[in-house]
Amino acid sequence: MNKTIFTKIICKEIPADIVYEDNMSLAFKDINPQAPVHILVIPKKPIANLDEGTEEDKTLLGHLLLIVQKIARKMGLDNGYRVVINNGNDGGQTVNHLHLHILGKRQMTWPPG
Ligand code: AMP
Repeated sequence: MNKTIFTKIICKEIPADIVYEDNMSLAFKDINPQAPVHILVIPKKPIANLDEGTEEDKTLLGHLLLIVQKIARKMGLDNGYRVVINNGNDGGQTVNHLHLHILGKRQMTWPPG
């Protein structure tokens, strides 16, 4: 299977502005930010998207949400923030490695585009 751009970032084959790393996850700044703070949180395990997560990934998926909380605090997103997971074509997913977007430091609107 071809490595995605995010797997290359995990392997440090290509650079990224990393803001957090542990044995299960990595978080880095989005290269094309849609808000003053735009961070991507990814599992190191190459899960293609949310649909591909299984019962076996329960701890990992919960971990990712707690990492979102930790990063939001670290980034000073005290006034709130948005967490987005784009899943598949209709979801607008462009990179086939599960990732959680953290968007903050601006007022979000609803519905999303
Ligand atoms: P999605 O559309 O949900 O699949 O989001 C993919 C995100 O990855 C987009 O917001 C891109 O800007 C971001 N992205 C793509 N390549 C890189 C990269 N090399 N470093 C950081 N972010 C990236």
